[in-house]
Amino acid sequence: MFDKSTWIKLPRNVVVGHGVIEELGQAVAELHLHGDPLVVTSPTPNELAGDRLRAQLDDPTTVTIESASFDSIERVVEVARDVDAGYLIALGGGKPIDIAKMAADEIDRGFVSVPTAASHDGIVSGRSSIPEGDSRHSIAADPPLAVVADTEVIARAPWELTTAGCADIISNYTAVQDWRLAHRLKNVEYSEYAAALSEMTAEMLVDNAASIRPNLEESAWIVVKALVSSGVAMSIAGSSRPASGAEHLFSHQLDRIAPNKALHGHQVGVGSILTEYLHSGDGGRWRAIRQALDSIDAPTTADELGVSDDEVLEALTTAHEIRDRYTILGNGVDLDAAVETATVTGVIDRE
Ligand SMILES: [Zn+2]
Repeated sequence: MFDKSTWIKLPRNVVVGHGVIEELGQAVAELHLHGDPLVVTSPTPNELAGDRLRAQLDDPTTVTIESASFDSIERVVEVARDVDAGYLIALGGGKPIDIAKMAADEIDRGFVSVPTAASHDGIVSGRSSIPEGDSRHSIAADPPLAVVADTEVIARAPWELTTAGCADIISNYTAVQDWRLAHRLKNVEYSEYAAALSEMTAEMLVDNAASIRPNLEESAWIVVKALVSSGVAMSIAGSSRPASGAEHLFSHQLDRIAPNKALHGHQVGVGSILTEYLHSGDGGRWRAIRQALDSIDAPTTADELGVSDDEVLEALTTAHEIRDRYTILGNGVDLDAAVETATVTGVIDRE
């Protein structure tokens, strides 16, 4: 008997463009949501766009968070229960969106994503992870009900946030290879459609790398569109597999070993150079990945990430321990292989 079933959850309204923050009210009204919104933001985005956003809603409560932590999630959950929020609106870069996503999941409400920076693909997906002591807590929640991404606002975000978003997308190349490998070796569920979409997104970004420049609204547009289709790929797959492989494990491990040194996207970009080499050796596309990262000013070395060579090697040799996700790291990369990989690719500089 054929009894397979699948659920694909996607955002209903995705509004991208110049000045579209003014269309938030409409984008939300069309969802016919019940109850009042609760705005979740952090200080800078709140200053930047909080008033413009609130002016379109019926005097919503705002909760401002300072850090991506469990305390912040608890605080948002508490306020949401106090005001009996019908849904959450996340305004900000990665932090408020991750927090709102997890809080919304806990109280079983939807959320709307209003990114002010294009720093990672979490702005459109249901995936999020928050540091918890020495490890990370990841959830697979529903994607946002709507995404309102104003390219005028996003273009004004610090440039390194945009290059981090680009690097996060470029890393889809290796994420998809890890996914295929896991499918072949471990029978992990795989979607050809989601994999193709994810790879195509990375390709589009690499092809457009030359036109991704600071203070250009068109760049913000290219990156946001790529983040949206990357998020859609994850929704179709029902997992983060299309956009998260060994390069993400490497980055998460680096977060533990050398916390707060570099942005998520920048770490996964360097991770992608390394894991592409592990996948395909010198004949692979690691040079193309490095070249693309380099051309958008994203880091390609340990030095540029602000971490030491030893920290990179430790992350690479221990990243497989993080979670039950089969990748090219297998049961672990030994130190000699890690040194060779990182040296050949120029990530570390050893004589
Ligand atoms: Zn990522």
